[in-house]
Amino acid sequence: MLSAKLHNGGIISSSEYNESTHGTRIYCLDKNCNAPLIYIDAAEEGRVAHFKTSGKGDSKHVANCGFYQRLDLVESISKVKEYQAEVLNKGVKEIVIRLSMSGLDPDKEKNTTEREQSEKTKKEVKLKNENLTPQSISSVKGVVKLLTEYEPDILSSILVNVGGGRKVPISELVVNQEQAHELLWNDNVLQNVGYFVYGKVTKLIKLEKVMYITLEENSVPFTIVIFQKHWKEFTYTEKQLVGKNVLVFGNLRKNEYKDQQKTEMIIKSDRYLQTFQRKPKNIQEDSEPNSHMSSNNKRV
Ligand SMILES: [Zn+2]
Repeated sequence: MLSAKLHNGGIISSSEYNESTHGTRIYCLDKNCNAPLIYIDAAEEGRVAHFKTSGKGDSKHVANCGFYQRLDLVESISKVKEYQAEVLNKGVKEIVIRLSMSGLDPDKEKNTTEREQSEKTKKEVKLKNENLTPQSISSVKGVVKLLTEYEPDILSSILVNVGGGRKVPISELVVNQEQAHELLWNDNVLQNVGYFVYGKVTKLIKLEKVMYITLEENSVPFTIVIFQKHWKEFTYTEKQLVGKNVLVFGNLRKNEYKDQQKTEMIIKSDRYLQTFQRKPKNIQEDSEPNSHMSSNNKRV
């Protein structure tokens, strides 16, 4: 873990922690947990400075703590939503990541500058310490990776630069279909900003000129739309998608039909959608706490 709660309720980053200033009473920031933590200096384990549980006495994460075990995407984003406001309001150092998804669009010809820029970004990321979060988000796959490979305290300190000087907590951009629907129909979506929506595919219907993919409906419908002109770029089959969890990226769109408000997203190629695995439901009770997980900011 790279963040911990102090006895006075503040939250401190491990890189800024100083025992004489902040005291020795440091705790897990998950409010269900509050396990006492210990501080490990960078020099001690040859890694970045971090906090962890000692495994002794009360210094263990509880089962529903976000640091107890590795989280799947849905668990991870829900913990980030839970922590994000507190982490960002209490002085943890922000990580700003740029959202640059324009490379996804097959209709848009890449100009040389853009191509050069994306190559440059790739190089920069490679040169960085492997433990650091990427500097930009340019694929849906990258978001799945980010949300499943980094611990929720790090993710909670991420602001996404969506352009036009706007920076938003990552938990506001990655939403389930109900949240997407609410944002859209309450007119709270960020202008010209794509959202990442996750859910489980129930149906794929191919008509003459359009394909519809519907997500499992809890309270509101959500439909992914692919027009015929983009079918050559969209190769997923019914078999590959039905029953799978997916994360899709695009602009949210209203569709009002016979007094029914529906939320849609138009996508243009395979690259707008990424499948991901959910954890089987009984794992939470069965598995042992993953104590070494908290010793590194990137999970191994
Ligand atoms: Zn904990």
